[in-house]
Amino acid sequence: MRDLYARLGVGEEVYEYGEEVEERLVQRFAAIDRLAEYNQLKVLAAFQKNKVSEACLLGTTGYGYNDLGRDTLEKVYADVFHTQDCLIRPQITCGTHALALALMSNLRPGDELLSPVGKPYDTLEEVIGIRPSKGSLAEYGITYRQVDLTADGGFDYGKIKEAIGPKTRLVTIQRSKGYQTRPTLSIDQIGELIAFLKGCKPDLICMVDNSYGEFTEEREPSDVGADMVVGSLIKNPGGGIAPIGGYIAGTRECVENASYRLTAPGLGKEVGASLHALPQLYQGFFLAPTVTASALKGAIFAANLYENLGFPVIPDAGQERHDIIQAVTLGTPEAVIAFCQGIQAASPVDSHVVPQPWDMPGYESEVIMAAGAFVSGSSIELSADAPIRPPYAVFFQGGITWPHARFGNLKALQALVDAGVVSAREIEKAKEKLRKTSK
Ligand SMILES: *Cc1c(COP(=O)(O)O)cnc(C)c1O
Repeated sequence: MRDLYARLGVGEEVYEYGEEVEERLVQRFAAIDRLAEYNQLKVLAAFQKNKVSEACLLGTTGYGYNDLGRDTLEKVYADVFHTQDCLIRPQITCGTHALALALMSNLRPGDELLSPVGKPYDTLEEVIGIRPSKGSLAEYGITYRQVDLTADGGFDYGKIKEAIGPKTRLVTIQRSKGYQTRPTLSIDQIGELIAFLKGCKPDLICMVDNSYGEFTEEREPSDVGADMVVGSLIKNPGGGIAPIGGYIAGTRECVENASYRLTAPGLGKEVGASLHALPQLYQGFFLAPTVTASALKGAIFAANLYENLGFPVIPDAGQERHDIIQAVTLGTPEAVIAFCQGIQAASPVDSHVVPQPWDMPGYESEVIMAAGAFVSGSSIELSADAPIRPPYAVFFQGGITWPHARFGNLKALQALVDAGVVSAREIEKAKEKLRKTSK
């Protein structure tokens, strides 16, 4: 094993340090395996209940009328999320598209959108019109209000209550921290927030941006009152093999509205050929619970590796997880770039490519992204991204197998050692610190 790691460019100190860190995670990893088992059975039950059959894998072309596989997959998703309906299509190009669709189809001119959890994900700023953009909600006369989280990451109930007015129609709640250094929301917290919101105004539509959160707990936001949960298939629910797509699971009315916006008024869910995507969408969803578990282990491993070395990490090493993202504040652009290059070098595809920061569409500052993935840009696969701005944090996520997530972590640490960001002496000290704590 040691030789293999050495051949793949991970030196002795880093390898040993990884061993020491993992030895202390046995119990947590066992709990993650139980979670994966629970969610695996939940998904399997939905497959069986809806009689997923070989014919469901075939797909259609053209208009896609009576697409059995597509319609059955939507029922399977709806059952897993415990919602009335679901829209899940290869025509939904990504998570941002799914979110934009959910918002634009359920809001009307004169309505107001509220985010009670601070600034939404970067790409939504242009959807909403926080940053002026063609086709934004703002251009259609839909206004936006935001209430930030309190300094300790809690909900500012007083301000939220004040922000809800006669125009407030839809509330967007982002489960995951995204590119921020705030805590990710647990399902319990989301449930509390939704109960409060509906207490203020019962007919509010509560939407949760579920990106990176699927299968990280036994429940989903729709189990605690969300009217819509929205996400990307090149993250958790695609299981690493869905080649494209997004989903909107929710009430019949919300999903119906979204379907008329995706296709056309009058057509809705009846059209939209699934082409050849169905086998991967089904199999990916089937694999998603264990794939998400691998990514969770990778995130926890990273938190422990870096916290012990003295870097600020969110969530911290011992904290409970509600998404698969691990933020590590490395403090300098050089360190962030070295880390991402290390992740890239650990990839099965394009490992020889050296990523550089660039002006990605939809993002406010330059971003560096490491992703040597089978599905381009897939971030359920081992990947790291970082906006080049203070505090210079990298956001690490994914790993469709645990051994690969583990290797990627060590390779990235090795890159920091090679770049002179972390010294052999510091790794030795971190090991000593670990040995003083019990296993
Ligand atoms: C990734 C992500 C999105 C957008 O998804 P894309 O597929 O990249 O468009 C939205 N919200 C959050 C919290 C995300 O992590």
